[in-house]
Amino acid sequence: MYAMRLLAPHTPLQWTELPDPQPGPGQVRVTVGACGVCRTDLHVVDADLPFPGHALTPGHEIVGRIDAIGPNVEGLHMGQRVGIPWLGHTCGCCHYCQTDHENLCDHPLFTGYTRDGGYATKAVADAHFTFPLPDGDDDVAVAPLLCAGLIGWRSLVMAGTDARSIGLYGFGAAAHIIAQVAAWQGRKVYAFTRPGDTKTQEFARSLGCVWAGGSDEAPPEQLDATIIFAPVGALVPAALKAVHKAGRVVCAGIHMSEIPAFSYDLLWEERQIMSVANLTRQDGIDFLERVPRVGIRTTTTPYALKDANKALDDLRHGRFEGAAVLVP
Ligand SMILES: [Zn+2]
Ligand SMILES: [Zn+2]
Repeated sequence: MYAMRLLAPHTPLQWTELPDPQPGPGQVRVTVGACGVCRTDLHVVDADLPFPGHALTPGHEIVGRIDAIGPNVEGLHMGQRVGIPWLGHTCGCCHYCQTDHENLCDHPLFTGYTRDGGYATKAVADAHFTFPLPDGDDDVAVAPLLCAGLIGWRSLVMAGTDARSIGLYGFGAAAHIIAQVAAWQGRKVYAFTRPGDTKTQEFARSLGCVWAGGSDEAPPEQLDATIIFAPVGALVPAALKAVHKAGRVVCAGIHMSEIPAFSYDLLWEERQIMSVANLTRQDGIDFLERVPRVGIRTTTTPYALKDANKALDDLRHGRFEGAAVLVP
């Protein structure tokens, strides 16, 4: 097999030949059809997240077909199309695992971080942490659903079913999917982009957003909730200003630059700030079940696996709309 490997933080990924991994008990191996490029991958490469101390293969939005099955796997079969997400393993016995918060497990493994991921021709995953996908050949279109879609979904749930108007800060892979879901649910969606990025604002309106503007602008009305997808701490006070009394601000990223000090007035009147961490398997089931009903269309830019460094660089500089996807 081949993989794009991160040998040390802040270095380009290296095209590497490796022996085919063998699935252990409870695991399956897939031939990768496509793997999405997530902002978290940038945080791994840039060591915004602690480097795990060993070479790794990034990538946690994997669509593949099972080509080997380890012992003690039930319910999956050879050739089956599956998705592999960020949460790759949980202990099953800690307080969080036992109280429906497996996303916060004390001893997790994360695909493409503490376990090798999908910037590769083959990948191994725990069978219990794969999602069966309907048959189809457009793996590129499906890959961004596995994290951008899933984390976006969890963030939307956190924003509350009572939030009829929702602002999305950072209109990238996650927002372009979740805007479609929120609009389908009958909510009014407001898109905040980098100031002056009229191209992305137009893109947001084409996906059903009722308003799009720069993150330095105030929305035309105060909102029920906002979700911050951009890793920019300065957006937290801006988002608090955009919500009315009892409004919620959901921080969806795994990493954010420092949040500047702000007046308590912005939080007063029962406004809330919360973060979303990882996903649960139930999130995946709930979201993937809705995908065909909503008729979600992803906007993707495919790259050859060998061009993973270029894909990451283009993501860093916002050079495409929607999501980048690697194709082995
Ligand atoms: Zn646990
Ligand atoms: Zn991700």
